[in-house]
Formats: sequence, C-alpha cells, structure tokens
Amino acid sequence: MKVGGRRGSSKPAASTNTTEASGKQPASSSAAPVGANNRRLMAEYKRLVKNPIDFIEAHPSETNFLEWHFCLSGSQAPYLGGKYHGILEFPEDFPMKPPRIKMLTPSGRFEINKRVCLSMSDYHAESWNPSWTVEKILIGLMSFMYEESTESIGSMLDTVANRKRMAEESQLFNMQNETYVQLFGGGEDGEGKKEAAEDGDNSNDDQHAEVDREMDDDDEDVCRFCLCPATASNPLVNPCECKGSGKWVHMECLRQWQKSVLMTQSTHPMYQSSIDEVCNICKKKFKNEYKPKSRRQQMMEWTGQELHGVIRKGNLIVPNRTESDKSKETMEK
Ligand SMILES: [Zn+2]
Ligand SMILES: [Zn+2]
Repeated sequence: MKVGGRRGSSKPAASTNTTEASGKQPASSSAAPVGANNRRLMAEYKRLVKNPIDFIEAHPSETNFLEWHFCLSGSQAPYLGGKYHGILEFPEDFPMKPPRIKMLTPSGRFEINKRVCLSMSDYHAESWNPSWTVEKILIGLMSFMYEESTESIGSMLDTVANRKRMAEESQLFNMQNETYVQLFGGGEDGEGKKEAAEDGDNSNDDQHAEVDREMDDDDEDVCRFCLCPATASNPLVNPCECKGSGKWVHMECLRQWQKSVLMTQSTHPMYQSSIDEVCNICKKKFKNEYKPKSRRQQMMEWTGQELHGVIRKGNLIVPNRTESDKSKETMEK
C-alpha cells in the first residue's frame, strides 16, 4: 500500500522528471518533452496508468511525448513468454492523424524497424478514426499478431518453431536496447519501471500532481476526440447519432477533424468521404444545427479566391522565398 494520501494507482509510472523533481518548480516549457502539450496523449497516458491493459505496457519517451514505447507480452503459443518491444510515433496533431507503428524485437510475425501496416496505422490514414485510442491500437496490434495471416505490409509469418525460438530469445534481445531497459526494466516480468515508480513516490513533481488531479473526475463526460471535458467556452455537443462514451465532442474538435480529412484526402470525388455531412463513426448525418459548411465552401475559405486565381500551368505554389528556392533547386536536379 502507498502512503501520502494520494490514490494508489494514479501515479504515472514514468518518473520522467526525476532529475528536476527536487522540490523545485518543473523546468519551464523549453525543457518539457516535445509534444507534452498534446492534451489527448496526456489524457490517454493517464488512463493507461490507471487502467493498465492486460499483457501490454506503454510509456512515452522521456524526452519526446510524441514517441511511445510499448511492450507486448506474448500470452499465446507460439509467442508465449515473448516480450515484443515497439514504438508508436504520433504526429503533432494527433489524434487528427494516426500514429506510425514500428516493431523492434524480432518475433517472426513483424518485420523489424519497418512500418507496420494496419487499418489504424499511418499506412491507412484514410481509414483512421480520431476516437481510436492508444489502447485500441495496441490491442488491435496484439490480436493481429495472433492471427495466422500475412496480408499486410510490415508483417510476416515465420515457422512456428522459429517464432517460438524468437519468443525465448526476445528478452535477451531487448536488454540491448537502453530505452527498453529504462522503461520496462530488465526483470523477468518487465516490472522494473513500475516498481521504480512506486519506490519513487516522494519524487513527485507538480506536473504529475496535476495529472492526478485531472484524473479524479472519472465519470465526467469527455470529448471523443481530445478526451477532455467541457469548459465554459468549449461545451460538449452531440452532433450525430453516436451513443455511449463516444457521444460527446467539442465543436472545435469536430471541425478540426473535418478540416483535417478534407485537407488530406484526394481531390478526386471518388475517393472523398462525406465528412462534411456524415459522421465517420455512426455513419449518420450530422444534426442540422451541427452541420458543418459544405466541402466546397470550406475549401474556398481555406484557399481563398486569391490563391484560386493564381493557379495556372507553370506556377509553383510555395510558402515563401526560401522554400521556393529549394523547390527550384530540386527541380533543376
Ligand atoms: Zn475535444
Ligand atoms: Zn456519430
């Protein structure tokens, strides 16, 4: 049991700032890990620490909050006993775009150091849904591992004997990776990090205290995209037929997602979704009062008449002179 009056399980396992945690204010934002302002990832990490997933452990890198390391523990033959280390690389605007998934430990199931292609990885940005959580992604990855198929890029299917052997050798392999040892420990059960975190209960810094406070509101409704509650200036709305925990969304988050889809999908109508009319989750039309502007109208607003006017054969559209010169150089090559 823990002491100190704080709820036992709520402390994030990653004591990211132990070196600065000597009672001083946490260092200013310049020293904060990259991506630490991504509220969605923050919220996800809090959830994971509080409600760990069976056979899966995940922690953000200590210097880059957009890079998460995870370890899948094999619980089924032929992966039994295997520890599979991998990396999730999140884009800065996560969850508007999917993360990249990479496996580092040889498994006979995934190619190593290569992007794994799943419907929820950046290989398939078009099928991404911003309400998919890290938990869902990792559970999906794990069940894919247990499937005996090789349909996707970045995966393979070695012989059962080889996969068994790799499971046995996996921990030895992982021990050569400094980050792995740091985050998941070297113990048989990979519990090193957790124990370290429990021991270091006094080395709490303000950032973690903040994280804990926010976690106390468990049953509060949150936005399905950013996982944050409503605020006075940013209420939650239910714009479609989505039910349950996915019911609520901030208007701002919904608009951001719609914009992100419109900006990244093909300009060919055949490959466009009707995100400006239909919710991508429940597949129902947005209620009238929450209907976004039409695709055409939005595109016109972002690109503007001016830009529209200069699109002519032979003209290059570039952000500024430096970029323009670079493009010119590239073209001359
Ligand atoms: Zn939101
Ligand atoms: Zn919906």
